[in-house]
Amino acid sequence: MSTDFSAVREDFPILRQKVNGKSLVYLDNAATMQMPLRVMEAMETQQLSRHANVHRGIHYLSESSTRELENARDALAGFINARSSTEIIFTSGASQSLNMLAQSFVSGLGLGDEILVTVMEHHSNFVPWQQLCLRTGAVFRAVPVTGNGELDMNAFRAMLTPRTRLVSVTYVSNLLGTVNPVREIVRSAHDNGSLVCLDCAQAMRHARLDVQELDCDFAAFSGHKIGGPTGTGVLYGRLELLEKLPPACFGGGMVERVTLEGTTFAAPPLKFETGTPNITGNIGLAAAARYLDAFGIEYIAERENALLRRAVELLSALPEVEIVGHPQNRSGVLSFNVRCLHCFDVASMLDRLGIAVRSGHHCAQPLLDAMGLDGTVRVSPAFYNTFEEIDALAEGLERIIRVTKGARNGKHS
Ligand code: PLP
Repeated sequence: MSTDFSAVREDFPILRQKVNGKSLVYLDNAATMQMPLRVMEAMETQQLSRHANVHRGIHYLSESSTRELENARDALAGFINARSSTEIIFTSGASQSLNMLAQSFVSGLGLGDEILVTVMEHHSNFVPWQQLCLRTGAVFRAVPVTGNGELDMNAFRAMLTPRTRLVSVTYVSNLLGTVNPVREIVRSAHDNGSLVCLDCAQAMRHARLDVQELDCDFAAFSGHKIGGPTGTGVLYGRLELLEKLPPACFGGGMVERVTLEGTTFAAPPLKFETGTPNITGNIGLAAAARYLDAFGIEYIAERENALLRRAVELLSALPEVEIVGHPQNRSGVLSFNVRCLHCFDVASMLDRLGIAVRSGHHCAQPLLDAMGLDGTVRVSPAFYNTFEEIDALAEGLERIIRVTKGARNGKHS
């Protein structure tokens, strides 16, 4: 049985608009997925009927706000199959989740300890660990990639040492769409006695994130990449680890008792949530998770992969288009360049045709350096895109190539 996506665009009125006089073709879903009406409604209800601070009030609005926020936490725990909602920390997004974890690691790292990431990371899973190592004297190491744009797994295994404290790896590359063998990575790291964090920002629509099945110790993702609001996200952590880790930030809401002599902290997850949380946003994030669940992540992934395959097929047929990276297992995004054109020019010419794509370094400069590039054009369909929109992208590129060639030869097209 498969899910019927024919009416799905009704849930996304933003897609109905014209851009530059053309029907919008939104193919930048790896940056931010559009928000379904259901999520907006959940947030509107919260704002209209419960808007009040959580956890500390004993009046009606505060209690019902608290209940909704904790329901959202429960829903997100269910969404990623955490053992309990105490393992779900609300953050402002994957970047904050990863920074928070890195900050919590500061006191536990010693000179010569090692943190292992990969060259394929988004800067958000690279710079926090690099800076942590600079501050603590720990050694920062990055697993290289092969020419196809896959992780060099032999190098990965060789780089695990008795000093490797943590391996932090992206599940899916935001530049190449490479789906990394995370089960194997977790197994090897655990056999080595190292903890594992998965950056799942690009993976949430690719496969169900089941933290128990994957056996990862930490996982990070962002709300706006799954139809939730910007400024929301989750850091998942195994409870026994969260209990041991020190908090990364201090202030109201995360304490048990404060005296002149010192402070004791609340139990996880509140120990990591300082100040008033993004209550409405987190409720919206849970609504987004429920929305995706109603379709079934596996069907969403199946449709997005079919759209991506069509893009690979059509773009591969254009001689001037050079696809970047040829991983065996690709999901979510396709990067390419057009010969003799800068990626910014391609993206802005596509925008004139109403087609939204991403261009530039995609916050993955170490990977681009490894591939000898300074940027790419990136296309990332979501399940609400259509095959006709992928055709429009290919036709748009053909037109851009024709017009550019014509201009170079002094002709008008
Ligand atoms: N990790 C990956 C793989 C990403 O693609 C992104 C965003 O594009 C991030 C982390 C950071 O996400 P955010 O900007 O929502 O914090």
